[in-house]
Amino acid sequence: MNTLAINGGVPVFREPQTFAPWPPVYPETGDKLREIYMSANWSFYGPAEAQFCQEFAAYHTSEYGVFMANGTTTLECALAALGVGAGDEVIVPSWTWMATGMAPVYLGATPVFADGEKDTFCLDPAAFEAAITPRTKAVIPVHLFGSMADMDKICAIADKHGIAVIEDCAHAHGGKWRGKGVGSLGKVGSFSFQQSKIMTSGEGGLCTTDDPELFETISRLKHIGYAPGKKRGEVAGGPPQTGLLCHNYRATEFQAQILLDQLHHLESDTVSRAENAEYLRKRLEAIPGIKTQSPGRCATMQSYYVFGITVDPQILKPGISKADVIAAVNAEGATEVFGGWGAVTYKQNLWNVSPEKYRVASADVVADIIANRIILLGIQWLMSDRAVLDKLVEAFDKVMKEYSR
Ligand SMILES: *Cc1c(COP(=O)(O)O)cnc(C)c1O
Repeated sequence: MNTLAINGGVPVFREPQTFAPWPPVYPETGDKLREIYMSANWSFYGPAEAQFCQEFAAYHTSEYGVFMANGTTTLECALAALGVGAGDEVIVPSWTWMATGMAPVYLGATPVFADGEKDTFCLDPAAFEAAITPRTKAVIPVHLFGSMADMDKICAIADKHGIAVIEDCAHAHGGKWRGKGVGSLGKVGSFSFQQSKIMTSGEGGLCTTDDPELFETISRLKHIGYAPGKKRGEVAGGPPQTGLLCHNYRATEFQAQILLDQLHHLESDTVSRAENAEYLRKRLEAIPGIKTQSPGRCATMQSYYVFGITVDPQILKPGISKADVIAAVNAEGATEVFGGWGAVTYKQNLWNVSPEKYRVASADVVADIIANRIILLGIQWLMSDRAVLDKLVEAFDKVMKEYSR
């Protein structure tokens, strides 16, 4: 009667679900990109970049924004500006994208991996505190998927020990914690605009900060030593500070224009994704064996990058795994349902750092639970209407009924 599509039954979605294009494409942006092209001023510190940095920082209640090539260079420059270098330790969550762990390595510092919380999957403040040594210089909490790290506790612990906080906001554009924008809660915020992110220009990144000195140092780091706003051929604003190793990590005016236009949709999009997420949470949690990732504990605006759910392996029939659930849900026509990175950062096959160059400070209890249980619903679902969400829930319900003991 209700045979799974993967076994030859009729799928819940008669045709595999398709979505509006992601990232969104605005015709008026296309016109502006043509103007930039015709202006022949394509690189740094054009009018779109200046406006984007100012508006993006202000939206996230930060004073300054520095636009860069990607969200890995932003983490590296944030650490470098805070004086992190050889011999220092930087605490990062075990469950994150490669970049968070690699940024300290690029500077000769040691990433130290600490476990996450059971409900939000973000860095556990207790695991962070337990990982601190006299060499700890910085901590990088990540606002992961559709949640936020506990910034109250993490900042309090960091303050007590004199450790700098860098927020990795690669999944959290538009998020607010107690009314303050993500990226404004620690010393520096790091954003990515890579193709898959909430805001994207294909590639790109941005650092936020309230500190004028950090702003100046980060600007110099990304622009081969020039002071903020200074271009080639202009007075450089004096040389960079002695020993500061500066780079070309600039981004282009085209990217800034794409992002500036997206920024004007950020608030309404963030609100609709959050409303859809709450609707999905209620409906999916009614299915036995399914739980959802908790939103940020003090989030006044939770920005959802994806929607995280977990499947309890105990409830599944013998021989059935999370991967089987995903395959069966996909076969019902629910595309954009996937399994995440599969392992903690330092066990992924892209992690190519020799063991003496990093440290694992806590048993990865929660991180391993995430690896074995998490299923992610792509951002497109959170931009869909309720009738589509209802069919997604129906697909999960059908699969879980068949695959539960
Ligand atoms: C995407 C991402 C980054 C930065 O990535 P880039 O691809 O370099 O822009 C950093 N941290 C996390 C958690 C990410 O997902």
